[in-house]
Amino acid sequence: MFLIGDLTAMLDTYLEPNQVEQVQRAYEFGARAHAGQRRMSGEPYIYHPLAVARILAEMHMDGQSITAALLHDVIEDTATAKEQLATDFGDEVAEVVDGVSKLTHFKFGTRAEAQAENFRKMLLAMARDIRVILVKLADRLHNMRTLGAMPTDKRRRIARETLEIYAPIANRLGMNSLRLELEDLGFSSLYPMRYRILAESVKRARGNRKEVVRQIENSLKRRLREEELPGEVIGREKYLYSIYKKMKNKALSFNEVTDVYAFRIIVDSVDQCYRVLGAVHNLYKPVPGRFKDYIALPKANGYQSLHTSLFGPYGVPIEVQIRTKDMDKISSAGIAAHWLYKSSDGGGSSTQKRANEWLRGLLEMQMNAGNSLEFLENVKIDLFPDEVYVFTPKGKIMELPRDATVVDFAFAVHTDVGNSCVAAKVDHRRASLSTTLHNGQYVEIITAPGARPNPAWLNFVVTAKARSNIRHYLKNLKHDESIELGRRLLDKALDSFNLSLQDMPAGVIGELLHEYKLKILNDLLEDIGLGNRMAVLVARRLAPATEGAVDDKIAGKQARPGPGHPLAIKGTEGMVVTFAKCCRPIPGDPILGFVSAGRGIVIHTDSCNNVAEFRKRPEKWIDVEWASNVEGEFPVEIRVEVANQRGVLAIVAAAIAELGANVENVGIEEHDGMYTAITFTLAVRNRVHLAKILRRLRSISVVVRITRTKG
Ligand code: MN
Repeated sequence: MFLIGDLTAMLDTYLEPNQVEQVQRAYEFGARAHAGQRRMSGEPYIYHPLAVARILAEMHMDGQSITAALLHDVIEDTATAKEQLATDFGDEVAEVVDGVSKLTHFKFGTRAEAQAENFRKMLLAMARDIRVILVKLADRLHNMRTLGAMPTDKRRRIARETLEIYAPIANRLGMNSLRLELEDLGFSSLYPMRYRILAESVKRARGNRKEVVRQIENSLKRRLREEELPGEVIGREKYLYSIYKKMKNKALSFNEVTDVYAFRIIVDSVDQCYRVLGAVHNLYKPVPGRFKDYIALPKANGYQSLHTSLFGPYGVPIEVQIRTKDMDKISSAGIAAHWLYKSSDGGGSSTQKRANEWLRGLLEMQMNAGNSLEFLENVKIDLFPDEVYVFTPKGKIMELPRDATVVDFAFAVHTDVGNSCVAAKVDHRRASLSTTLHNGQYVEIITAPGARPNPAWLNFVVTAKARSNIRHYLKNLKHDESIELGRRLLDKALDSFNLSLQDMPAGVIGELLHEYKLKILNDLLEDIGLGNRMAVLVARRLAPATEGAVDDKIAGKQARPGPGHPLAIKGTEGMVVTFAKCCRPIPGDPILGFVSAGRGIVIHTDSCNNVAEFRKRPEKWIDVEWASNVEGEFPVEIRVEVANQRGVLAIVAAAIAELGANVENVGIEEHDGMYTAITFTLAVRNRVHLAKILRRLRSISVVVRITRTKG
């Protein structure tokens, strides 16, 4: 049991005797005020303020904070008035206790307005005196440590509030040790099962990895010795809640998150940080693009360190953080480092300065915000840097992970919206579906009745919801689409024998299915649609009576039945009909279809260079033509040679946009003194549309030459 004597003994090591005396008085005052009260656990109430004071004493907080900690519940829970505290312990202590008391009523998860108003009060109290929030955080930490005594529903509410409000505030103040403990405690209370399973998995993984960790650690140490760089190498453990968050937000498996070997190297000076970085990069190859210099560019909460990722032995991924002792202290204590390491100037005061700047910013935001809700949303943007907050057209806030795109937003709104989105407006301007969203943007999704998800979306969505929905939809869709295409292909093939699928006797079909070992007709049609089975061969099996005639056809033009019956391409076939990237056919171009196993039909232009190669396999070709009512937009590539002149790209792009074509990609191809070639990938409706665009571009004076690129 931690008693007042233990507390004063701790304080004697860093506080003046008169301050310790004040703390002793505060304890006696608190014990009297709380006399007879007990905590849920059954112990006398005063043990709680005492424990809170201890947490602050471990941070070496000043005498006023410790005094306030011992008294933090007396206004709230006893008959004591603020004025009396002011008389006995001074105005500062009274103000801090009053601030903490006001926060006690703060309840999360009630009505949005009330919640916002409370949150606003809390941040304002904290902006007046940062010690209010430090006492409150210590109070919350002790409550979380002793949460077991609470009834389940209360426990869950407190845990959620801790994860959603207090841990992010601790993070914003750079208090990482406290934040990590709050998070793990909150996680274990909110999701006890998940917590337990993760804890067991981590324990198992740790056992398996011990040997590799030791080996890497030794290599790192040896290299530092060889380079005569004094530094401490520490194997780093990932916290359960961080693992859980990563798995959830990035839809990664346990192994993907934890298969990283993490180390920290602590050195004496900034100069050594960079030298150790060099030595480490020399030992293991760095992963390109993963190096971060938070020493030169500290994080908003004052955090400083070098981060790098390496390819370790056997290719295992290694993450290394390199920092000085001071940076390490600040990275765990954050703003509290100001009190904890008063002697060592430098980093501590800069963290303090940053925190104060942030708090000043909050006050300003509060003055500018129309109401508490708006203020809350502004602050959230600041408190949760890993999330973006965007607005729906109705002004509702949507919370998405960082790097979320328009499609992620659409699926977050509703699965149907995601499945049928075709375009978007971001801040009232047209934006492509892959656009990354930023805080505060207004996003409007444009849907179309027949629209469907595109496999290419999987390349840019970041939310698990979007990903799983697209996959699920595509799987069903491909199945349906291949059946539909298979039916059209088989009907077309039967047509050249003057037969049709509809008139085919069920017995004949049944026999064939039996022979192919298929259950139902749709299985056969799907096979044909996917290109795994040739329609004309199936047709021949279904038309035994006319076998001789069929053989002639197969020997001759087989897979390309006579003119007049080409397959009409409508543009709505979906994934079983694709358009070749080499020649990018658009409606109006003469085209050919190539049957590709498992993929259905790939459409090329007649003049595509690749066609010559494919001609050697005529059985794979199929006659196709554009339907009269083709739908959709088709990508086409044009090469525009322009005179070198400032702003020329913008001029050309504007002309293209004017004619209603979207630019999907731009490439600057070559550069000499006079001319530049720009390659645009445009989405156009058809040849007429393209011709209009080309005519318009030719009329621009800086444009020298335009060509459509083909195969
Ligand atoms: Mn309390």
